[in-house]
Amino acid sequence: MRNGAEGVLLDFDGTLTKPAFDWPAMQREMALPAAPQAAGRLGAPGEVSILDYLAAAPVPEAARVAAILERHEVEAARRAEAMEGAHDLIAFLERRGAPFGVVTNNARRHVLPMLERTGLSIGTLVTRDIGVWKPDPRHVLAGAEAIGVRPGRCVLLGDGRFDMMAARAAGMTAVHLSPGPGLPCDYRVSTLAEATELLGRLLG
Ligand SMILES: [Mg+2]
Repeated sequence: MRNGAEGVLLDFDGTLTKPAFDWPAMQREMALPAAPQAAGRLGAPGEVSILDYLAAAPVPEAARVAAILERHEVEAARRAEAMEGAHDLIAFLERRGAPFGVVTNNARRHVLPMLERTGLSIGTLVTRDIGVWKPDPRHVLAGAEAIGVRPGRCVLLGDGRFDMMAARAAGMTAVHLSPGPGLPCDYRVSTLAEATELLGRLLG
């Protein structure tokens, strides 16, 4: 076990909140050309990363896809519910005095109402609005900087492939929240209660 973690970065959608995205419906509507890229918050297995696609697409195509994404993100935000154990995890980090923050590929305009709706209290929030996003390690490195902890002393907890890719590329300890094995990571937990227990040990 790697000890000496000092700070914690948390993915948001599917980690602190329950999955609320209708991926199959959105992907059918977008009908993006398939590309052999990895999965994550905005890209299911075998599909192109939607954010990367948007950044590279010609303006009319980007506008078409962005409108579909926006509609689904607004809908998911309206349905947001805290994941079981999310409030306990945040309360634990606050009690421990461990610096922590959220690093999400979602946009601030969606995350803020979701925080309001779920009652989750997050002081540090790094979103895709900074112009980079997971799996780009610069996104999680911005999170580390925001909480004032060196990347090698950060633990990143997330449910997606892009979370694990970004954390590992940034030299962080990658903890995968998943009911079953799947992604390369340093630790896997199946619930946030397990994650809280693990963080208790890693922050020791
Ligand atoms: Mg996620």
